Amino acid sequence: LLSARGIRKSFGANEVLRGVDFSVRRGEVVTLIGPSGSGKTTVLRALNGLETPDGGELEFDGGPTIDFSRPVSKGDRIAMRDRSAMVFQHHNLFPHMTVLENVVEGPIRVQRVPKAEAIAAAEALLDRVGLAEKRDQYPFQLSGGQQQRVGIVRALALKPDLLLFDEPTSALDPELVGEVLHVIKELADEGWTMVVVTHELAFARQAADEVLFMDGGVIVERGAPRDIFTNPREERTRRFLDRIL
Ligand code: ATP
Repeated sequence: LLSARGIRKSFGANEVLRGVDFSVRRGEVVTLIGPSGSGKTTVLRALNGLETPDGGELEFDGGPTIDFSRPVSKGDRIAMRDRSAMVFQHHNLFPHMTVLENVVEGPIRVQRVPKAEAIAAAEALLDRVGLAEKRDQYPFQLSGGQQQRVGIVRALALKPDLLLFDEPTSALDPELVGEVLHVIKELADEGWTMVVVTHELAFARQAADEVLFMDGGVIVERGAPRDIFTNPREERTRRFLDRIL
């Protein structure tokens, strides 16, 4: 579905991505783990067009190869952005809009989906995550876990090829983490393609087809969860896992 090659990105003198290579196959669940500051969020933002790399190439199946060593055309940027949808650490819902309005905003305004169709699709998705009766409430009236489930529904409503999750549970109280991971796990089981940045290693172990370990702006190691977690090849991976397991 996606191939990224040699992605580089600096913020001023801070070289955050130093040549990131990876690919994601359709239907695959990839988790991205690694120490704070290693560049995980920046990778997701680059995939979604929220950040423009300084170098490297990105290609979605059937789309153009985007070469970041040259200025990116507006068309390429839009082509790339439309392939994925992001679920943020802090849900980023619009506070002045109801749950339903939040979900239909992208489909109606950006994708020009007819209003009635967008509303019907949004209601079905809200029902699926157990939030049908919350459609006319405002984000502040919901728990953190419910807000984050709306954030997930808002991403699904865009019907992206790829779902990007940026530490979707790290801002939640511990007792709310489970309900959000449960929804993500269900989506994974349904065959959604996703890249999940997470500190929840139990989730990575259970749900991921592939784990990427990132450190210092590069992907140090990638493999099946059982290999990475029980028998990492790289010393840096081992040290990281020893610290947090
Ligand atoms: P965490 O687990 O703490 O979220 P991360 O691995 O996701 O970390 P990034 O958020 O990608 O790491 O950040 C990598 C580095 O890039 C950090 O040093 C951060 O300060 C820097 N950085 C990220 N975004 C920007 C920005 N917009 N401007 C300047 N520096 C940035």
